[in-house]
Amino acid sequence: MPESTRAARARARIGLTGGIGSGKSALAAMLQELGAAVIDADAIAHELTAAGGEAIAPIREAFGEQAIDAGGALDRARMRELAFADARQRARLEAILHPLIGARLQQLAETLPGPYVVLVVPLLVESLARWRGRVERIVVVDCPAEQQIRRVMQRSGLSREQVQRILDAQATREQRLAAADWVIDNSADLARLREQALRLHRSLLPPQGI
Ligand code: ATP
Repeated sequence: MPESTRAARARARIGLTGGIGSGKSALAAMLQELGAAVIDADAIAHELTAAGGEAIAPIREAFGEQAIDAGGALDRARMRELAFADARQRARLEAILHPLIGARLQQLAETLPGPYVVLVVPLLVESLARWRGRVERIVVVDCPAEQQIRRVMQRSGLSREQVQRILDAQATREQRLAAADWVIDNSADLARLREQALRLHRSLLPPQGI
């Protein structure tokens, strides 16, 4: 095994999750600033399904031209409809995407520099079985639903009802907290979040000396 791989394997790997608007990206950015290797599972999925992405050919083969938009990318709206209406179609799409996402993630986890690896996975708790074995610690960013709603409305211009619908489709706050090994309370300001980012960062640094 090459030295770089051995070093990468020895690094701590955490899964960072939280509901919509909870502050995952804000925390991930703080950890990245502190030097962490941050990997975003959603960004990988987007990359794979963009025009020219690795997932496009197998998706075209499995679902036909209807799944691909005029620009050559995955037709997300179309696919969402299909997958929503038919669990088998969803499973087929996942069977294509999950191994590709896993491989890319592994590659980044082994090559990005940093003392530890942070995988940002918005729907980690929704597919807990898949992620449990891949991370040593599950970190959940938590705040009351009302705060999530206000933050997302402010950021996106979505209505309260639209945000509530997204919230309702996600795991509940209780389910996420039950899966957490480490909880970040993001119900206060960004300065409080930064303090907690620093504490988490310190807990993840490899021990100094021999
Ligand atoms: P999504 O699941 O939608 O990607 P997220 O969990 O990554 O959301 P962020 O994008 O980090 O959440 O935060 C949502 C919004 O709330 C952002 O505009 C962010 O700047 C703001 N925000 C996050 N934490 C705080 C805080 N403690 N105080 C004030 N604003 C915050």
